[in-house]
Amino acid sequence: MPELPSRNEMERAYQGKDANYDGVFFLGVRTTGVFCRPSCGARKPLAKNVEYFSTAREALFAGYRPCKRCTPMAAAGKLPAWVTPLLSAIDRDPNQRLTDTGIRALGIDPARARRFFKKQYGMTFQAFGRARRLGEALEQIRRGANIDDVALGYGYESHSGFRGAFGKAFGTSPGKAASTECITVTWVESPLGPLIAGATHKHLVLLEFTDRRMLDTQFMTLRKAFRRPIVPGTNAVLERLRRELAQYFSGKLRKFSVPLEFPGSEFQKRAWEGLLRIPYGKTISYEELAQRIGARRAQRAVGHANGLNRIGIVIPCHRVVHKDGTLGGYGGGLWRKQALLELERGERN
Ligand SMILES: [Zn+2]
Repeated sequence: MPELPSRNEMERAYQGKDANYDGVFFLGVRTTGVFCRPSCGARKPLAKNVEYFSTAREALFAGYRPCKRCTPMAAAGKLPAWVTPLLSAIDRDPNQRLTDTGIRALGIDPARARRFFKKQYGMTFQAFGRARRLGEALEQIRRGANIDDVALGYGYESHSGFRGAFGKAFGTSPGKAASTECITVTWVESPLGPLIAGATHKHLVLLEFTDRRMLDTQFMTLRKAFRRPIVPGTNAVLERLRRELAQYFSGKLRKFSVPLEFPGSEFQKRAWEGLLRIPYGKTISYEELAQRIGARRAQRAVGHANGLNRIGIVIPCHRVVHKDGTLGGYGGGLWRKQALLELERGERN
């Protein structure tokens, strides 16, 4: 369970419209059935009518819909301003090991930083820094750098210390790293809420609306499917995706060109390739998709494969609907499916 600040702290933050708490918690208003981020400008309800959630997903599952005024889904992936110095500190020098004292020197409460990182990345700040460092070390070794030099460069005094940390993070020794391909994961903000994206050096392998409660499960599935270590960060494929997604959401991009990899059974692959052939702005039924991929009698299996699509939006599973015109399911929530279809029909913006 992700931790929540104390109720008092949350009430104070909400009453004070404190934007620093955006993404840290969400609140549902029982009387209106709407959920908000802490900084929402709408009139404050009575405290007894407020319910607190640590993620937007929980609020959605509890039956609340996102507030139109403060768009809490978009806020969920946005980093509060106070985190920026911390992240730039890592970016400037991934080798730097920030201690609690160091974090305090940036004007940040270490406990708060820990809570935030745990929620945002599913790990502590230190673990995040370590993962980033090791991820970079892995990169250098892949590019042919000497392992001892790399170990030293990343602040490991002994080869064995480096080997230990490396093995723990990647399940392999630095010597085998040259042939180890890792999956880099990052958050991408979108008008429909945050997405998590994962890519190897060559291919996009994951894109899903999510929140951190699902992170562990997704990481596990990814590790199993790809048998590769997962590292937070970014790479050229992810940056290309970021650009294409921004264009897509502004209605300017109709076909993604970022390269994809989607391991799965023969049947699943056929279903996903079928999805890729549905043109922008069009919808087809599950029956039709089954027919198109030569599995007329396997509609349910097609529906199931559709639901297992790991690369949302780009492999457009949102373009499959029920024959009677109802939307059917969507892993990211039906309102998002609706919104994507409206976007593609030019009914948004
Ligand atoms: Zn609101």
